[in-house]
Amino acid sequence: MVEYEPIIGMEVHVELQTRSKMFCGCEVAFGGEPNTRCCPVCLGLPGSLPVINERAVELMARAALALNCTIASQCVFHRKNYYYPDLPKNYQISQYDYPLGVNGWVEILAGGKSKKIAIRRVHMEEDTGKLLHVAGNKSYIDYNRSGVPLMEIVTQNPPPEGLDQIESAEEAREYLQRLRQILLYLGVSDVKMEEGSMRCEPNVSIRPKGQTEFGVKTEIKNLNSFRAVYLGVDYELKRQERVLREGGTIVQETRRWDDERGVTASMRSKEFEQEYRYFPDPDLVPLRFTNDWITKLKADLPELPIPKMKRFMSDYGISLSDAEVLCDTREMADFYESCAKLAKDPKAVANWLTGEFLRLLNATGTTVAETKLTPANIAALLDLLDSGTINRNTAKSVFEEMFTTGKTPSEIVKEKGLEQVTDTAEIEAVVNRVLAANSNEVRRYRSGEVKLKSWFVGQVMRETKGKANPALVNELLERNLEE
Ligand SMILES: [Zn+2]
Repeated sequence: MVEYEPIIGMEVHVELQTRSKMFCGCEVAFGGEPNTRCCPVCLGLPGSLPVINERAVELMARAALALNCTIASQCVFHRKNYYYPDLPKNYQISQYDYPLGVNGWVEILAGGKSKKIAIRRVHMEEDTGKLLHVAGNKSYIDYNRSGVPLMEIVTQNPPPEGLDQIESAEEAREYLQRLRQILLYLGVSDVKMEEGSMRCEPNVSIRPKGQTEFGVKTEIKNLNSFRAVYLGVDYELKRQERVLREGGTIVQETRRWDDERGVTASMRSKEFEQEYRYFPDPDLVPLRFTNDWITKLKADLPELPIPKMKRFMSDYGISLSDAEVLCDTREMADFYESCAKLAKDPKAVANWLTGEFLRLLNATGTTVAETKLTPANIAALLDLLDSGTINRNTAKSVFEEMFTTGKTPSEIVKEKGLEQVTDTAEIEAVVNRVLAANSNEVRRYRSGEVKLKSWFVGQVMRETKGKANPALVNELLERNLEE
C-alpha cells in the first residue's frame, strides 16, 4: 500500500496592537458600535491619501526579527485588486515582491524535540471590514476593522537546508501556539483567535512518500481556536488520503471548517494569484531601513520563550514541563525568576508556582501582574518551611493568605499562631490524651489493625490544629502504641 506524507503550510494573519490604523488616524479597538471608527482614508473615498503608521512598521519589523527574518533593505506597498463588499477601495494595500522580512524560522518543540519551522516571508498589509450575515438573507458591513495594521506570516515548503517543515496536525497547532506566545512576549498584538486578532489559514496536501512534487492543496478557513486548527488539519489530511485511496483526485479549493459537525466542506475553488493584478501603490513611498534602526530593534528584543525555557532548566535545574508552564507568559517567567533568585531552592519555587499559585490565579481570575504575592514573601515562606517553623499544610494556608492579603508570611504565622509544634513533650502529652480517650481503637491496633495508625495521626493533628510536626507525631504514636 502507498504511504502518504503530509505537506502543511501556514498562513497566519495578526492584527497589531497600535493606537491607530495602518494608514489613517482612526482608533484601533475590538468591537464597539459599527462604523464609528472610520474616515475617508479607511473607507477608501476618492481623493483621500494614506499615511504610513510608523509605529506599526516598527512593531512588524520587531516581530520579523524575532522570527529570525532578514529585514529587507527596501520594502514596497502594493495594491492587491479585488472586489468585495468588505473592501470599499476595491484594493487592499499589501506587499508583494518586496516584503518586510524574509527567510526566517520559528522554533517549536514537537514531542520534546526541537524543530525550526521555515518562514518564507513576513509582510505588512491592512485589514478589511467585517461582514455580518444575519437571518433573512441580510448582510451588514462594519468598517471599524478596515485599515487595521495586519501582519501576514507565511511558512516555506520545502524548507531550505537546516530548517524544517510542519508535518502533522499536532505540529501545526504547536507552531501556531509558539507563534502566538512569541508575539505576546514581544507585545506586538493581543493575538486573540476568538476575536480574530490572530487568524490562521493552513493549506494542506499529501503526496506518496518519496515523491518530490507536491500534491494538490486545499486551504482551510474558519478555524477560530487552536483546537479547531488541529482538528481541521487532521480532518483534511485524512479526507485527502481517503479520496486518493478510493482512486479520486483532490480539487484545489478553499474549504470551510464546520466546528459543530467536525468536517470541512468546499467553499469555492481557489482563485489564482495573478488575478489580483498587484502593482506598487503610487500613494505610498517605498521604505528603506538603516542598519542602525535594525540593530537597535534587534537589541530591544526580549529573550524568547524557548531559549528562556532552556536557560531556566540549566540555571535552576527545573524540568521541561515546569519550564513550559513557567515560561507560558513573560509575566510568569519574570515572576518566577525574581523568586528563584531570592529563594534557596529554585525547584521548590517552581513547584509552588506551578501548583498553588496557578490554582489560586485561576480560581480568582487574577493575573500575575495583579497578584499581591511578592517574590520576597514567597522566598520567606519557603525559609519558614525549610527551618521547620511551619509544616507543609500550614505553608499552604499561609500561601493562600499571602495571595489574598499581601501580608508577609511571618506576620500571618504570628497573627494566627501557626508555628509548628516541635516540642516532643507537648506532642507526647496530646498523643497520650488521644490514646487514653480511644482505648477501643488502641486495643484494635494492638491486635493487628495497624492501618488505624493514620486515624490516630489525624486525631493528634486535629488536637494540635494541624500545627504538630508530622514526622514527630508519627514517631511518638508508634512508640506509644507499641507499648
Ligand atoms: Zn480611518
